[in-house]
Amino acid sequence: MDNQTFAERDLAVLWHPCTQMKDHEHLPMIPIKSGQGVWLEDFDGNRYLDAISSWWVNIFGHANPQINAAIKAQLDTLEHVIFAGFTHETGIKLAEKLVEITPAGLSRCFYADNGSAAVEVALKMSFHYWLNSGQPQKTKFITLENSYHGETLGALAVGNVALYKETYRPMLMDVITVPGPDCYYREPGESYADYSSRRFALMAEVLAQHANEVCAVIIEPLVQCAGNMRMYDAVYLKLLREACDQHNVHLIADEVAVGFGRTGTLFACEQAAISPDFLCLSKGLTGGYLPLSAVLTSDKIYQAFYDDYAKLTAFLHSHSYTGNALACSAALATIGIFQQQAIIDSNRRLIAKMAEIATRFTEHPHVAEVRQTGMILAIEMVKNKHTREAFAWQERRGMKVYQYALRQGVLLRPLGNVIYFMPPYVITEAELELLGEVAWQGINHAVNN
Ligand SMILES: *Cc1c(COP(=O)(O)O)cnc(C)c1O
Repeated sequence: MDNQTFAERDLAVLWHPCTQMKDHEHLPMIPIKSGQGVWLEDFDGNRYLDAISSWWVNIFGHANPQINAAIKAQLDTLEHVIFAGFTHETGIKLAEKLVEITPAGLSRCFYADNGSAAVEVALKMSFHYWLNSGQPQKTKFITLENSYHGETLGALAVGNVALYKETYRPMLMDVITVPGPDCYYREPGESYADYSSRRFALMAEVLAQHANEVCAVIIEPLVQCAGNMRMYDAVYLKLLREACDQHNVHLIADEVAVGFGRTGTLFACEQAAISPDFLCLSKGLTGGYLPLSAVLTSDKIYQAFYDDYAKLTAFLHSHSYTGNALACSAALATIGIFQQQAIIDSNRRLIAKMAEIATRFTEHPHVAEVRQTGMILAIEMVKNKHTREAFAWQERRGMKVYQYALRQGVLLRPLGNVIYFMPPYVITEAELELLGEVAWQGINHAVNN
């Protein structure tokens, strides 16, 4: 069996995510046969360096021996069991670990099975908390411009990326959208911290005005990943935490993408020394193996639901695969690797290497900005470096980088015209250099064709 055979069979029956399927009339579908570390191999024997961690989920490589072993052991013991009325050792151990490693005050863990579901859980819990606490007028959510929280209707409603949201707007609840701290728009010479705190004034104003009807502010700490890897300073989170406390509004930290070491600390909130009221985790949680998410919250919130059944205050949300034992075993093994191998420390070397690679791009005539937060490096490709005029989206320049890189054996999947590296933490410095070289050539190819 070769690539072409599988591609034809695939296109006859499958419908892929986030894809205009007609693109595959000219864009080859790539059937992957196997993965090892940062490398993927197709059925024709081509190899691809997985520079985007298979959509930001894979942190310790494909076919990681430790995670493989943990899942195999779990498989021979218990694959899954109903998680209402029943529990299991792996689910308990994982919740204990998550409570231990997440910011202080988060002492309860609720499982779901993907990032969007975690966001839905946090939104519903926050709303329901205020209802149970005698504040039924609190029904709204505040979100940031350019934010992304997933694709299900509640998650899409609190997101703000027009490409995904606009089509479905009539189906979505109303939210209060506040201009964000996206530092791409800071003034020349202005620091990230100065711009971020200056932009917080807009949030402070909205909070002061609407706090009485608002359940929570939802935010992606430090990096708006799906919103073109736009970044801001931790001071914004500090100010937001203070203002939420002052106005009696919850803070939901959506660390689905940035959690588990992506920003250089285990959780991005640590860089602001804050604890959110709800912390949403998924993606890297299982090392990129199995769908699982968790919402961590405080005892105070938990207690607002804890009462006699007849009071009808319970959180009756569920998913069939809540607390799946195989997924929990992958997550426990993943956290085990962080702790045994001191990954946050060892990643510093990779982060420095990425910064070194970044310098080359800053002078490129079609690069408006190169930005980095921890293990995320983003390169903003534009038509005009000085005016920052963007390439027309219809030209699909990012797609040209994607296709070029694939031919060179690198899986880069730009967001529009933003090329980014978000590699697994098992990547080597030499592989990072290869990435940098292919991205450089890919950008030159894309701006000239
Ligand atoms: C990917 C993502 C989600 C959605 O997670 P899914 O598992 O794809 O549903 C939510 N929030 C953020 C910040 C994300 O990056």
